[in-house]
Amino acid sequence: MRRPLIAGNWKMNGLSADAVALAGALRDRLDGLEGVDRVVCPPHIHLAAVAGELAQSAIAVGAQNCADAPQGARTGEVAADMVADAGARYVILGHSERRQYYGEDEALIAARCGQALAAGLRPILCVGETLEAREGDRTEATVAEQIHGVLDRLGAEGLGEGVVAYEPVWAIGTGRTATAEQAQQVHGFIRGQLAERLGGSAADAMRILYGGSMKADNAEALLAQPDVDGGLIGGASLQADSFAAICAAA
Ligand code: 13P
Repeated sequence: MRRPLIAGNWKMNGLSADAVALAGALRDRLDGLEGVDRVVCPPHIHLAAVAGELAQSAIAVGAQNCADAPQGARTGEVAADMVADAGARYVILGHSERRQYYGEDEALIAARCGQALAAGLRPILCVGETLEAREGDRTEATVAEQIHGVLDRLGAEGLGEGVVAYEPVWAIGTGRTATAEQAQQVHGFIRGQLAERLGGSAADAMRILYGGSMKADNAEALLAQPDVDGGLIGGASLQADSFAAICAAA
């Protein structure tokens, strides 16, 4: 049985005091909750402070990106071992905002994944179709290309203990959520693709998160689907009460 995982993607929000205060509030709200893994992913600059605040808690820390190369001449990037050294255990990779605003493609995302795995980080690999692709009946083709484009460039262990996050681009930050049936349909498809590549038992063990306007009031229905193993939460992860409510629904 897969243990649910709820991850908060704080995106580019908050100064250091805000990040530490949110982490502290989450630690207090989630104390004693069992049966669900939780992760918060602050901006790089706040990683160490948040990891320090959460050191004695059951909340893990993740980053929102890591470099595609080891330490060296890559101005502005942060190497995976630096991210791990700051206290992160997970790293979000291939988020649609990075694909859209920074032109990230599968080759770059795979290189980042490779660095993450080498540093002992668990990738949270994001995939998902645009509205145009969905309306053109290209949801599965898009997601398959994104998954295989990365797995083709990684070793036999694939994403290791990492996870996949299905985030339909049209549902991110729009208030428009995939229905539970739409999510299940794509999650089932993703698990099938993973099984083809990694074998049935590895695919069965891998968690597939849903992301895109997941909130306290729709989390339960989404998380009840057999292949929805958790959530990657944007907006609602910036409020301790909302994030805690989603964790409680898992
Ligand atoms: P929202 O929950 O704000 O739609 O963001 C989802 C997301 O992009 C998480 O990575």
